[in-house]
Amino acid sequence: MFDRKPAFIVFLVLLLISCKSTPLWEGQGPIQIIETEDKPIQKQNQQVFDAGNGVFFSNQFDGARLNQVERLNDTLIQITILPENEPINPSPWYGFKIWSEKSEDFWIQFSYGGIGFHRYFPKTSLDGMNFSNVDSVNFFQPASEERRPEMSFLRIETSPDTLWIAAQDRVGTSHVQDWKESILEHEFVELIKIGESKEGRALEILKIGNADDQEMLMVISMQHPPELTGFLAMQAFVEELCSDSPAAIKFRKKYNLYVMPQMNPDGVANGHWRHNSGGIDLNRDWINFNQPETKALSQFMESKVKESGGKFVFAADFHSTWEDIFYTNNEELEGNFPGLIPKVIKKSSKRIPGYVPNIRPNEGVQRSVTSNSYFFFVHQAESMTFEVGDNTEREIIQMKGQFLAEELMKILNKKKWK
Ligand SMILES: [Zn+2]
Repeated sequence: MFDRKPAFIVFLVLLLISCKSTPLWEGQGPIQIIETEDKPIQKQNQQVFDAGNGVFFSNQFDGARLNQVERLNDTLIQITILPENEPINPSPWYGFKIWSEKSEDFWIQFSYGGIGFHRYFPKTSLDGMNFSNVDSVNFFQPASEERRPEMSFLRIETSPDTLWIAAQDRVGTSHVQDWKESILEHEFVELIKIGESKEGRALEILKIGNADDQEMLMVISMQHPPELTGFLAMQAFVEELCSDSPAAIKFRKKYNLYVMPQMNPDGVANGHWRHNSGGIDLNRDWINFNQPETKALSQFMESKVKESGGKFVFAADFHSTWEDIFYTNNEELEGNFPGLIPKVIKKSSKRIPGYVPNIRPNEGVQRSVTSNSYFFFVHQAESMTFEVGDNTEREIIQMKGQFLAEELMKILNKKKWK
């Protein structure tokens, strides 16, 4: 009989070589310092678009965008999705409902008005809540090197039943609200309103724990509206800290965790690609604090420290990008618990077979404009920005969030503070 073992060993060796030779992504370039005073933004008009031949599009819901619809021919409809303002990181956050008088089969061409290129793989849903990726044979986009605007096409079949198409599988702010409510069911969780956004949405924090605020933790996510995978990792992380495990029970007696799951509610509700309703990238406003969201959170943290005489020992900001990467502070600099973050990342990553975490410590020693820098330089909190890949599998995201929390608790539960 044919022995498959040698072939299998060759396969394994090849796999190892290919893994080894793939260099880890270097991450984003240096952070630009920008003005963070309000800039004008362009909102979308919420309406129904008549695309001809009995086909209709709508953007009448919270979150995601659709700005124009134009039929190019019998089987091709161009849709345009525009950002809130420019310059902007190209992360088109599209989403719309579609239906037709009778069944129709056609292509949608995505246009971003010459700004940016397609980023998020399309998802569909029949109820606006449960989304799944479209079949890849129905979606065409150029290979990454030649990623260009107006070159992505989706083939769909419509009917009188409403079909949702969106860049992310959660649209709007209600899923965040639902999740907050589920966390608030624990007796050790409390809701704190720390301010309001420009459009009057509540800026809210969850306080988790029964401790005395001598050692505190801060977790934030969704500074950038479409970054759902970062939000999902944050959820898994926080859920583990709220669990019934002996480590979590012990942890909550010793530490209070403060969580701001949605830093930018206006941006999420308006389907912004990146900015808040002041037209600003919030993650560039952690020195100037011109925007209500960053101002409210920094004032909250500073007043906590003042009231309790305690300190923030850990902070994390969750985002999404092309692939998983951790941005940490310069390892030469010491915060309230030197070495904590690299240790937690490495220990938790070891539990995922074959996963080598991409950790990029900041080379600078000066404070910068990001949340991560604020947490470290102002509070000496050991801090990290965890960017989760847009297409990282959901089970892996769940594991990463959960394992980070478990390893963090193991170390912090043992720590004796003076
Ligand atoms: Zn981000």
